[in-house]
Amino acid sequence: MGRYTGPVCRLCRRAGQKLYLKGNKCYTNCVLEKRPYPPGQHGPDRRHGRLSDRGIQLREKQKARYVYGTLERQFRRFFEEARRQKGVTGDNLVKLLERRLDNVVYRLGFAESRNQARQIVRHGHIAVNGRKTDIPSMLLRPGDTVSWTPRGQRTALFEMVKAQVGARPLPSWLALDADSMTGRMVAEPNPEEVPVFFNTASIVEYYSR
Ligand code: SF4
Repeated sequence: MGRYTGPVCRLCRRAGQKLYLKGNKCYTNCVLEKRPYPPGQHGPDRRHGRLSDRGIQLREKQKARYVYGTLERQFRRFFEEARRQKGVTGDNLVKLLERRLDNVVYRLGFAESRNQARQIVRHGHIAVNGRKTDIPSMLLRPGDTVSWTPRGQRTALFEMVKAQVGARPLPSWLALDADSMTGRMVAEPNPEEVPVFFNTASIVEYYSR
């Protein structure tokens, strides 16, 4: 499945807010703080531009895509699945996105950002229920475990992560055994625990036209 591979700070500048796509660097050396206007030649002139309702809906949808690192087609599939499910579509969408393997790896503190989490998964360093899995978009269910493969455990990154794991607060729907570096999804994700970077109601309106 494809993904955006360009400079991620451009995405924050386009969205007009910090989306924390780069991990620790976002707290110490943020490009948006230095250049708080959209990217491109005319970016500085557009910083005060007003958006139409449709423009706002589009921006919210794009922000969600940027945060979870999905391309439009895949994001649309997530949305259609969320709409099919019972309950509030916006909440269902957040729950589905949070269940992605790359997101869970990130939330467990095994990676600084979702981008890095995707790379770790792609390189075969992560196992789900004991089996190596290299599909970042795989959806986990309560009861699933996430651990490092023997190959992953031989990397310098693993040593670094192990030294720091547990520093970041863990959502209540995940459990972590820091000694064995194994995480477990103990419940469905709770949308209320997800830091809000985008407005889900606007996303629903965007796709409802
Ligand atoms: Fe966004 Fe982080 Fe880049 Fe700042 S440093 S613009 S928050 S990705």
